[in-house]
Amino acid sequence: MTETRLRFPPSPTGYLHIGGARTALYNWLYAKKTGGKLILRIEDTDAERSTQESIQGILDGLEWLGIDWDEGPYFQTEFESDHEAAASRLLEEGKAYKCFCTKEELDAKREAAQKNKTAYGYDGTCRSLSGEEVAAKEAAGLAFVIRFKVPDRDAEIGYDDKVLGRIKAQYSEIEDFVIVRSTGKPLYLLCNVVDDIRDRISHIIRGSDHMTNTIRQVLLYQALDAPVPVFAHMPLTLDLKKAKISKRKHGEIVAVHFYKERGFIPWALSNFLVLLGWSPGDDKEFFTREELIDTFSLERINKTNSIFNYQKGNDKFFTDPKAISFNEHYLRSMPIEEIATMVKPFLAGEGLWDDSYENDKKEWFLSTLDLIRDRFQMLSDFGDRGRAYFSDEFTVEKKPLKKNILKHEGLKEWLPLLADRYEALDDFNLESAEQTARDLATELDIKPGVIINGMRTVVTGQLAGPSMFDILMAIGRERVVARLRGVAELYKE
Ligand code: GLU
Repeated sequence: MTETRLRFPPSPTGYLHIGGARTALYNWLYAKKTGGKLILRIEDTDAERSTQESIQGILDGLEWLGIDWDEGPYFQTEFESDHEAAASRLLEEGKAYKCFCTKEELDAKREAAQKNKTAYGYDGTCRSLSGEEVAAKEAAGLAFVIRFKVPDRDAEIGYDDKVLGRIKAQYSEIEDFVIVRSTGKPLYLLCNVVDDIRDRISHIIRGSDHMTNTIRQVLLYQALDAPVPVFAHMPLTLDLKKAKISKRKHGEIVAVHFYKERGFIPWALSNFLVLLGWSPGDDKEFFTREELIDTFSLERINKTNSIFNYQKGNDKFFTDPKAISFNEHYLRSMPIEEIATMVKPFLAGEGLWDDSYENDKKEWFLSTLDLIRDRFQMLSDFGDRGRAYFSDEFTVEKKPLKKNILKHEGLKEWLPLLADRYEALDDFNLESAEQTARDLATELDIKPGVIINGMRTVVTGQLAGPSMFDILMAIGRERVVARLRGVAELYKE
């Protein structure tokens, strides 16, 4: 069997969109699954809209997601002579022709068709110009485009889409479409095919928004005597109101870099995105990279559009809650060493990183991350909601302050009293810390919860978290004692 060759050909006109990332993932998975190659090709022929910044963003996004490629990045602009040569070849072989119809003439014909309520398609006026006529028009300096000559056949043309099945049209329904502009620049439709032929692409997995091009592209493959690749068109991703997800409508949540900045685990996002439009056939949701490569198939790409459960203004969750639950899953289940590597930049960003976390305090660091990760959703939570574990400067959240501190005036004295007892303990450990707190509550004739919740608030600033006594051990006696003694500060505001 010949090698499968896939490609991801983004246009660098913006950041890497999560829809683009999903396309890249499907191509990558299929290349891996079939032992083939993934080619990265930057389609930068639109000089006005392509930017270096966008190219960099796409490369960074792919790298962050762990999508590696085998060839490239190639740049479409490096192959302009190939595109021109293909157009010339089609002209020479009589498979394309120069069209001198002016915009005004074409507009008038279109309007007339609209008035008569008939479908408009180019009528082939210039198809039958003789060599002399063409030469004369060119000599007169008339502008022309190059049109593809759709074969005059009373037959059907089509392809077998791996997702959608047979897609077909009648030759007679397809107009002679433009392949080279009057500026001499080949159109994208042609460039894309020429590049795919040169790169020997065997499978094209792309969004169904590209389907408007596909039948015409099949004609181009045939005209250029190249094998037609296998096509698989993926469903679009829509929001709850059935609108295509886009930056204009949904803002930054459609950008891969946004997930990186907010503390997503790359594989959690990848796993989520793959399932947005593909299903394994059962209800398994979490896959390792290898499992996904093994299970992935083009046939199980969904035919219907995918729903991204997000509406602008939904800020309780900053993205689809399912994506967040995927992140929680990986945050809780991945080896703690891997979590530590990913957490490091977030702590550093908050000024909380200490090199000892990789040396003499490594054990403490890993066990602390392990203790607190269960309630977190994002990697950024460690430097935010988890700040009290790494610094004495942290804020006490309003809710626990009101509920657990301000409602109990007595804590002003009780917590410093507890601090004294903790300081005096011979051995400050899980059992002794708990027993001491409970004994104090009994002595004072108050509920242990009042002491424990008050202590949680001054020690972590949070309403909820892991077991209180585990927290005390992680934070350490000295810091705990100082925080308990500082409780009076909280009543001052
Ligand atoms: N450059 C196109 C895009 O970014 C890709 C077209 C294709 O996959 O054929 O949408």
